[in-house]
Amino acid sequence: MARELVSTMKPNYRRCISCRQVALKQEFWRIVRVYASGQVQLDQGMGRSAYLCPQERCLQAAQKKNRLGRSLHTPVPEAVYQTLWRRLATQQIEQHN
Ligand SMILES: [Zn+2]
Repeated sequence: MARELVSTMKPNYRRCISCRQVALKQEFWRIVRVYASGQVQLDQGMGRSAYLCPQERCLQAAQKKNRLGRSLHTPVPEAVYQTLWRRLATQQIEQHN
């Protein structure tokens, strides 16, 4: 079981750091600053998490306005953003099929 305290929201709902929209946890990308290493990674790990809609405008705001870095309280490596942009492009291709 998750030990995070989410007292103000229902257990499986999260909020996008860019557009503030609330949705089910699994509908978002999860970006984690891992406690042990301080590294920023995607999807997995125990640590401080930020959630982002898989959408261009949310990713853009997270990057350009550093919403992600501010939310995680650490600089976010360029590689993390590159992975997310790649993921977004892949999703768009899938939607056209
Ligand atoms: Zn969003």
